[in-house]
Amino acid sequence: MAISFSLQGRRALVTGANTGIGQAIAVALAEAGADVALAGRSDPTETLALIAKTGREALNIKADLSSIEPVERVMAEAEAGLGPIDILVNNAGIIRREDLLRFSEADWDAVIDTNLKTLFFLSQAAARGMAERGSGKIVNIASLLTFQGGIRVPSYAAAKSGVGGVTKAMANELAPMGVQVNAIAPGYIATNNTAALQADETRSRQILERIPAGRWGDPADIAGAAVFLASSASDYVTGQVLAVDGGWLAR
Ligand code: NAP
Repeated sequence: MAISFSLQGRRALVTGANTGIGQAIAVALAEAGADVALAGRSDPTETLALIAKTGREALNIKADLSSIEPVERVMAEAEAGLGPIDILVNNAGIIRREDLLRFSEADWDAVIDTNLKTLFFLSQAAARGMAERGSGKIVNIASLLTFQGGIRVPSYAAAKSGVGGVTKAMANELAPMGVQVNAIAPGYIATNNTAALQADETRSRQILERIPAGRWGDPADIAGAAVFLASSASDYVTGQVLAVDGGWLAR
């Protein structure tokens, strides 16, 4: 069997793709041949234009993923617009920074709900069709905080650690049905999510000094791993969390 990274004829759904890592992944999936539905709360105007340039179809689905309320509608709109969804990328996520001793219940719930609860239930909704068809790929965006505790981000560390667990749990039950579930743990990537860290001179320098690659990551650095995990080249890979971190975890 020839190894193929092509996504020709596949249909993907990517959450939070108006900017940052989600945008880079959505465009890379289209460049690899997939039609792509984008689900999020902000208009993904730039992403739609970038996908149009690849000649693939793009579909915008407006959805606030801070609760599971829109989950069934998102799946229904994606499948009505593009056809059965073969690839789901759970990318949408938020972070709340505060000292541990002052951390609020609101900042706990908001991050767990968006980053973990919606990720699970959207995956469940997508997996039903994938299991029925006997094939599918789910790619969750985890974090270095799937492995580490971080500083001033306890709900984010809890949610992303949960993403690692749920990735393995889903992988185990879905493997016999031909569906692979993996995660990508991005290192420090220059996006809105890390704007506060980039702006803090001391933290930014400390982070940079610890990255063996000697630079912050770019959203495009994550795209290759996403295409691999969405393609048939990874058919025997499941339940993994792949760090794309310039060597951070190896140090
Ligand atoms: P970003 O630029 O802030 O992008 C986050 C995306 O999630 C945006 O599209 C955002 O939409 C969307 N989103 C957030 N809350 C949402 C909601 N309630 N409903 C719908 N969409 C929502 O940050 P990013 O770095 O690209 O983050 C993407 C993923 O990578 C996140 O899961 C993040 O935790 C993870 N990650 C990032 C890094 C990093 O260093 N940057 C490292 C590890 C993991 P809006 O634009 O409308 O807010």
